[in-house]
Order: sequence, then structure tokens, then C-alpha cells
Amino acid sequence: MKKKKGIKFLCDLCGELLEEGRPRFIFRGEIFCAFDGLEIEDDLERSSESIRAEIERLIRELEKRTEEDLQDEVHFPFHLDLCRKCRDRVYRALKLRGD
Ligand SMILES: [Zn+2]
Repeated sequence: MKKKKGIKFLCDLCGELLEEGRPRFIFRGEIFCAFDGLEIEDDLERSSESIRAEIERLIRELEKRTEEDLQDEVHFPFHLDLCRKCRDRVYRALKLRGD
């Protein structure tokens, strides 16, 4: 990898300048909605009629919203550059490391 001079990063959490030669930590992940469905199998008392009505209601609900809205809600990949201090904050928040 060719080393480029003058490339600097800002910590995405605190805004601290991460100069060349200082450690930079990348926090990458994704948040997405694990929709647990309508629980049709667990709900045998529910008539197929009411299930169909529920599905139609959901479809109407979804049609009202823009595609972008739905994308954001369903899937949010992210990539953050962090300084050491903020990496430690993330560790603590996620309880990956106790101190
Ligand atoms: Zn930071």
C-alpha cells in the first residue's frame, strides 16, 4: 500500500483529529431490523380472514412510506473512524471490556 502524505481523519464521535502515525480504530457494522413476523403459526385461533386483513393493513402502511424511509429502517450499515478514547467508550458501552 502506497503511503500518502497529509491524510488526516477525524474521530466520528468526538471530532478529534487523528493525525498520521496515531492509532485510528475502525468501527464497522450494520443495524438491521429482524422483523419477527406475524406469529401466524403460534396464533392458531386467529382466522385466516383476520390474518389477511392484517397483511393488507401492513401493505397499505408500507405503501405510504418512501423507499428511502424503509431502507433506513430495515438496514443501516455504518463505518466510523474512532480515536482510542472513543474506541474505549464503545467497548464500555457494549460491555466488551469491563473497567
Ligand atoms: Zn474520539
